[in-house]
Amino acid sequence: MQEKNKMTPSLYVHIPFCAKKCGYCDFYSIAYEEGPAAAYVDALAAQINGINSSVSTVFIGGGTPSALGSPLLKKLLRAARRLAAEGAEFTVEANPESLDAGKLRLLLDEGANRLSIGVQSFDDRKLKRLGRIHSAKKAVDSVMLAKKKGFADLNIDLIFGAPGETLNDCYSELARAVKLPVTHISCYGLTYEKGTTLYNARKCGNIIPVDEECTAQMYSFAIGYLPRHGFRHYEVSNFAKKGFECRHNLNYWRNDEYIGLGPSAVSYIGGIRKRHVPDVWEYINRANAGKSTIVSSERLTGERKAKETAAVKIRTAEGIDFSWFKKKTGFALGELEADALRKLTGAGLIKYKKAKGRAAAVSLTKKGFLFCDTVSSELL
Ligand code: SF4
Repeated sequence: MQEKNKMTPSLYVHIPFCAKKCGYCDFYSIAYEEGPAAAYVDALAAQINGINSSVSTVFIGGGTPSALGSPLLKKLLRAARRLAAEGAEFTVEANPESLDAGKLRLLLDEGANRLSIGVQSFDDRKLKRLGRIHSAKKAVDSVMLAKKKGFADLNIDLIFGAPGETLNDCYSELARAVKLPVTHISCYGLTYEKGTTLYNARKCGNIIPVDEECTAQMYSFAIGYLPRHGFRHYEVSNFAKKGFECRHNLNYWRNDEYIGLGPSAVSYIGGIRKRHVPDVWEYINRANAGKSTIVSSERLTGERKAKETAAVKIRTAEGIDFSWFKKKTGFALGELEADALRKLTGAGLIKYKKAKGRAAAVSLTKKGFLFCDTVSSELL
């Protein structure tokens, strides 16, 4: 790992390929094929090599990074690794169906020190309903193998509230999760995103979604149960053993800068938000022709940046410390968000924390965690 001239908090690299589209997913991805993937990794590696900055976190996400064949994965990891500063967190997302001992060895050898596995469920019928192509057994085996091969920092993604799921099913999923040798659990309620298979199936009445009250009960159970089993609830959907919070995502929630690469990825540098073209072929063609892959950019004003910082930072369990906010944005939170704070405290969604007898921070209440999107929108 080498020192570059500048320091940027994070690098995100989007791998827009999956073995098959899951029924609930609206991330940009296409079916994996070796040819396009090779052309894409070449273009991406050249872009990464042109970056003159070190980063403290690298996140290779998707899509399914582990779907890449080993030589491509190696090329990508080598390029990204060159930007990683000493001690950087280096996460790669993987799916159970494309993980084996050889690929795990490659990930470790090429600098990855955190693995995030899309387990989603321990129930084969639920996995099928979600459109996942791996079995529960394969998911568990992948976690155990990753641990055995040397990944000390392991996340699993779980989904709750799938059609047909009961409260008891959800309890069993979480009980199973905490027995695995993982350091981090990301737990998301199923959402029906427009254009997805599950969205269309619900629209046609082919599936009946779990009602909102039951989904809220599942979430309330998770935020009580996981901390009792050693996973501290540190962000709306994220739980970690002490010292294993995801540094990359903490950078996002502090509204720190990041470089994003890949179709549909976003960069946020110097107060400017830039979006990359959301099409893999156009991305490759532009990159190979030496053209920019950016299709839109927006300079954020000081006030807009400050409000966005409030909207993302409130998602963390520690909430927003007033002195931290002032130092980061130049604005006093109480003045900038006076109306929103009044409204949100009145609705029981946020609470003040005191230090030395004075309000020093604001954070979500238990009810606020359930309605975090409403809270964030109000602060924006
Ligand atoms: S959920 Fe993950 S594996 Fe499934 S389509 Fe989306 S990005 Fe691909």
